[in-house]
Amino acid sequence: MILSLFTPDRAVASVADLDPAVLLGGGIRGIILDLDNTIVPWGEAAPPSFVREWVHRVRAAGLRGCIVSNNSSAWVAQVGDILSLPVVGWALKPMPFGFLRAMALMGTRARETALIGDQLFTDVLGGNLLGVHTILVEPLSVREFATTRVIRRIERLVRAKVLPRVRAD
Ligand SMILES: [Mg+2]
Repeated sequence: MILSLFTPDRAVASVADLDPAVLLGGGIRGIILDLDNTIVPWGEAAPPSFVREWVHRVRAAGLRGCIVSNNSSAWVAQVGDILSLPVVGWALKPMPFGFLRAMALMGTRARETALIGDQLFTDVLGGNLLGVHTILVEPLSVREFATTRVIRRIERLVRAKVLPRVRAD
């Protein structure tokens, strides 16, 4: 049913709750990362140190990563430089183009790819449409774009319906 398109495979508080070695053990080889409020709090310029450390662990485990953001500013590339990760900006999520580009850059197929994001209507929907492993995180900041806030209100209703369906861990 339609709700399953908005249901992530997993839901955790933040990327720090995801062990890269466990993802690798589950057959994941590449990770698509949302930017705003997934790896950088809204309004801040750089990822917090816990995110930088986690990305180091991702790389040390032998996983690839790619940032995919709907944000179109040059700042997206700066975050990529800080984390030494490739970026796809102006991705038009939930449409598939940005995710497909990311998988091409990482050299992964959908079933070997995890997607981590904080929004059901862009990250989770887009990832589920492509058949990647979708992981929902809590937004790093409660501040965000006014348009995102409106979407978030609708999203909260869907979230209340889909989260009981997600494996708790
Ligand atoms: Mg986001």
